[in-house]
Amino acid sequence: MDFQIPDDVRAVQERARDFVNTHCIPAEKRYDFSTGRMPEDVCRQLRAKAKELGLWTPHLPTELGGLGLDLIGTGLVFSELGRSPIAPYMCNCDAPDEGNMHLLHMAANAAQAERFLKPLVAGEIRSGFAMTEPPPGTGADPSLLRTNAVRDGDDFILNGHKWFCTGANGADFVIVMARVNDSFRRTTMFLVPTDSPGYQMVREVDVMGSHGPGGHCELLFKDVRVPADMVLGKVGEGFRLSQVRLGPARLTHCMRWVGLARRSMEIAREYARDRDAFGQKLSEHEGIQWMFAECATDIEMGLLLTLKAGWIIDQGLDSRHAISMAKLHVSETLCRAIDTAIQICGATGYSRDLPLELFYRDARAARLADGPSEVHKMVIGRGLMSGKQEF
Ligand SMILES: Cc1cc2nc3c(=O)[nH]c(=O)nc-3n(C[C@H](O)[C@H](O)[C@H](O)COP(=O)(O)OP(=O)(O)OC[C@H]3O[C@@H](n4cnc5c(N)ncnc54)[C@H](O)[C@@H]3O)c2cc1C
Repeated sequence: MDFQIPDDVRAVQERARDFVNTHCIPAEKRYDFSTGRMPEDVCRQLRAKAKELGLWTPHLPTELGGLGLDLIGTGLVFSELGRSPIAPYMCNCDAPDEGNMHLLHMAANAAQAERFLKPLVAGEIRSGFAMTEPPPGTGADPSLLRTNAVRDGDDFILNGHKWFCTGANGADFVIVMARVNDSFRRTTMFLVPTDSPGYQMVREVDVMGSHGPGGHCELLFKDVRVPADMVLGKVGEGFRLSQVRLGPARLTHCMRWVGLARRSMEIAREYARDRDAFGQKLSEHEGIQWMFAECATDIEMGLLLTLKAGWIIDQGLDSRHAISMAKLHVSETLCRAIDTAIQICGATGYSRDLPLELFYRDARAARLADGPSEVHKMVIGRGLMSGKQEF
């Protein structure tokens, strides 16, 4: 096993680190707490800068304008970008567009790629991925999916109710998971332009963390006519394609979260080195050093789990067990690292003088979105009990 980072990946990593330190971290001060967003002018400037520095869509193959990195290289670069929560969007590699680009690259036909993928890669449009529904529809359990499409000539008529569709406000299209003719087995992904008659963005759900561009939206689909050529892949391929999308997308979340956990530790270290308590610096107290040691070990384990799962995907092997382990561990580590950093920084950590309180609120979603921790434990546990996975 070779842990040496190739020179070309290291060069991108360093560029990403420099972009984050020089441009993104200073710009975080412009975050608007009243809207939960970064101002548009800041986004425009930083996105232009990312393009100029060759950091735009780094995860994509070179023929699409990316850097042609494998998932290990992507992990190393994303974990640098993740140190600032705004950097991934500035490089057009944040959720949900990053996962949707990957999915479209794998599954879209030429006409779909031209219409949806090309402008998404260019950063001209945004997108959403609509799976989750209000109870009694699908949440953690996909078998509860209720949104339904019925064939009508050359079209499908789509009816359903979705929510927590990240980025949907202002998106040009959403990828919708729906049954076909009420058959779960025939679950399909549909590309739905948001100007389709019958599509309604009901509201941005008010959440405890950032809204990001486009919020987390509740959507209604009322007799939306979707032409058959807007089926992504084939009818009945919805769950196969959701694995194509969600597997790597869960890992790219982990990569960004490793970065944010590291940044939280860096902030706490700066405070601890400077702050006096009981005759010495905080950083000299063994109790504080143990806090750093435990978090740093968890973060390193998280990075290794993530890179290993990425390698398994790149080999085309069954990656579900490894992805669940990475998602479980990194999401829990992120919350623990930020919480520890706030503890070390005392009241300042709890205040908005530091970004930790925002990180803390944003991070809470990590243990819910893309599968709650309990569901990933279920996947890991079932694999072990069946004997398909070993300890
Ligand atoms: C910020 C954010 C962004 C999101 N973005 C998107 C998006 O873009 N598109 C999209 O489709 N969805 C999105 N989601 C939704 C997310 O994927 C769901 O929240 C998740 O799938 C869980 O569904 P649920 O919230 O309905 O929880 P429920 O299904 O109601 O589950 C509630 C809780 O029950 C527990 N639980 C569930 N199953 C088990 C089990 N087997 N064993 C033990 N405990 C269990 C877990 O603790 C779980 O948190 C987003 C969510 C958030 C918070």
